[in-house]
Amino acid sequence: CCYLGNQGCRNFSTSQRRPYIMKAWQLREYGSNKNFRFTDNAPMPPIMYPNQIIVQVCAASVNPLDVMMREGYGAAMLNRQRDPTGVLPFMDPNVNELPLVLGRDCSGIVMETGLNVKEYKPGEEVWVAVNPYKMGTHAEFVVVTNSEISHKPRSLTHVQAASIPYSGLTAWASLVTQGGLNEKTAKGKRVLILGGSGGVGTFAVQLLKAWGAHVTTTCSRDAIPMLTSLGADDIVNYQAQDVREHLKRLNKFDLILDGVGGEAEKYLFSTDYLKPWAGAKYVTLRTPLLKNADSLGFTDGLLKSGMSLAGNAVKGLASGIHYRWGFFTPDGMALDKIAALVDQGKIRPVIDRVFTFDQLPAAYDKVEQGHARGKTVISVA
Ligand code: NDP
Repeated sequence: CCYLGNQGCRNFSTSQRRPYIMKAWQLREYGSNKNFRFTDNAPMPPIMYPNQIIVQVCAASVNPLDVMMREGYGAAMLNRQRDPTGVLPFMDPNVNELPLVLGRDCSGIVMETGLNVKEYKPGEEVWVAVNPYKMGTHAEFVVVTNSEISHKPRSLTHVQAASIPYSGLTAWASLVTQGGLNEKTAKGKRVLILGGSGGVGTFAVQLLKAWGAHVTTTCSRDAIPMLTSLGADDIVNYQAQDVREHLKRLNKFDLILDGVGGEAEKYLFSTDYLKPWAGAKYVTLRTPLLKNADSLGFTDGLLKSGMSLAGNAVKGLASGIHYRWGFFTPDGMALDKIAALVDQGKIRPVIDRVFTFDQLPAAYDKVEQGHARGKTVISVA
């Protein structure tokens, strides 16, 4: 259905009977792709609260987080969100741990709505990004709350639309919520994006250019034409150039968005690269929060993460720069704003490869191999 709009997707109306089972890729235990099981009789996810909506998935993206969660990454923290008391079995089938359905976003069609949902009606085209502790979108249907959903951009097919919500909202949370940029404040600001060629980077470059910022980004050589076409002003080939020396020769930045992590943070989080005493921020997406909880347990992991964040924040404050963690955050209102930018032609989907639903393990392989050039998407319906 997805290249051609929603033809072929079942467009449920209130008069049609609700199915009781659905197709899904389930994970019965954490591990490799071998642990995925395709089923065509997974239970249909129910509406448990009046603000929930059942969405029929037409297309969904695959993200590095899905690959990591397949291996058990984040289970300690996510299980605490699934059940904050830590003692009860999971009571809500939409927040079960195993069997787990992965997938954090989708483009699809509203099938059924809870009694308190006024803004969405069955049959409407929507895009969603789902909180990681919930059942995901690599299935025929997903249940979301009305804060995780927005009307899909009219100008995009479902496959195109599915490439944006998770990465787009991660960039939004990092640049807007943590970075303090918006359409009014971003104009003329100098922003460095480490890792411009992937899902988050390709979206972040476009959002910043739409708002008039000056964008420098790092990538491999073959991604330079793509990033040039997205509007990046300065592009540093990190494989051929000494990034550290090259960036030192440029004017200092107002914001650095780090989607790469590792050594870069050690030298870039410094007044050699960020403007001191001007509100400049270093926002990293490579946080140790979930990993610490997995290895040390929820409480000790949280403590260690808090100390690491506070240590960097204090170190930065002494020289007038700020250190922040960026996290994907489901946000229907931000999706509304992104949809408007897409329909105005200011942001376009960047798709690396499309797989069919039955090829889902191959899509995970593709994402696992790295070197993303935009997004990997699966067409579901
Ligand atoms: P992708 O896999 O889509 O893209 C990563 C990109 O980084 C690839 O294009 C890769 O291409 C490039 N890259 C790798 N090493 C370098 C380097 N040293 N310098 C410049 N570019 C590099 O990932 P996403 O865009 O989806 O996510 C980016 C990062 O953010 C990931 O690590 C992800 O786990 C994290 N993330 C964190 C979230 C959070 O809530 N904290 C949410 C979403 C993502 P190539 O190797 O060819 O250079």
